[in-house]
Amino acid sequence: MAKADGKGRYRWFRPSMRTAVVSRHQLKSDLERAAERGEFQVHYQPIVDLRTGRPVAAEALVRWVHPERGLLFPETFISEAENSGIINEIGRLVLRHACAHVGGWQQHVERKPGEPPFAVAVNLSPAQFAQPDLVAQIDEAVEAAGIDPNSLILEITETMMLQGSDRVLRTLDLLSGFGVRLAMDDFGTGYASLASLRKLPIDIIKIAKTFTDDITGNEEKSPFVRAMIELGEALGLVTLAEGVETAQQARELERLGCRLGQGYHFARPVPSAGIELLLQRYAEQQAGLAKVIAFPA
Ligand code: C2E
Ligand code: MG
Ligand code: MG
Ligand code: MG
Repeated sequence: MAKADGKGRYRWFRPSMRTAVVSRHQLKSDLERAAERGEFQVHYQPIVDLRTGRPVAAEALVRWVHPERGLLFPETFISEAENSGIINEIGRLVLRHACAHVGGWQQHVERKPGEPPFAVAVNLSPAQFAQPDLVAQIDEAVEAAGIDPNSLILEITETMMLQGSDRVLRTLDLLSGFGVRLAMDDFGTGYASLASLRKLPIDIIKIAKTFTDDITGNEEKSPFVRAMIELGEALGLVTLAEGVETAQQARELERLGCRLGQGYHFARPVPSAGIELLLQRYAEQQAGLAKVIAFPA
């Protein structure tokens, strides 16, 4: 089969292209069915205070439990979900589950005075962000779960924030005013200017894994990480490093003044019950420690 390429020339339509088109179409209908059948699940990855090791939040990460292919990760379906609009349905589900779960977890956490509550972070894609009822959806999910709005962190990528139209800015202002916290995801991989960082109502910057990877103990290798942490601090933002895989990286980040960390070194994403267990254990450990301090042997 020959196909016009728009420049008046013809090129051969390769069989592989046909397969790609068919399987994308297939994927779209599979995604629709998966949503109907409730095959999407939410896993959560802990976020910890680098200085104390205390878990302070968990990030919601969607999974597709496929009847034949098993557990599927977002990279295999998120972009098609995004293109076909099914991401909005998935997003609503993730939001509802995340808010309900964090409400349950908070019962195992002793809230320190002056500190924000244990939170859940939810990723928002550009298509979700464009929904006119986004703020209403978030309001509803928070209400239904009976949680404080600052128990919810919304993660938005740098690129998206910087499409920086007035509408995006208005939505971010509305969300921030409502009391949810906003995080810039994958910071350093987009094009955030200093001016935009100052203008946007963000609370947290998540330093992208690729920069965390630079931390090897050799100071010369991580000037970007250090600069990002200093910038975040200077702007009064909370800095969070993604993809922390080694104890050495965790120590070095702490030394550089980074506040929070997330990565396989601390924990992999787990089902909600895993977070509950982690929080219970942490509380027990702290109680044990308090006893040791109160009654030294
Ligand atoms: P992200 O928001 O930057 O999430 C972090 C990703 O890094 C997760 O991959 C997480 O499992 C992985 N990760 C965490 N620690 C480590 C580590 O130490 N080493 C390595 N190599 N990887 C680590 P995951 O779950 O596959 O998600 C990939 C991306 O898919 C996310 O990147 C996010 O952009 C998107 N995504 C996931 N869940 C959702 C969702 O519910 N809605 C939307 N819109 N996007 C989602
Ligand atoms: Mg994220
Ligand atoms: Mg705010
Ligand atoms: Mg990220």
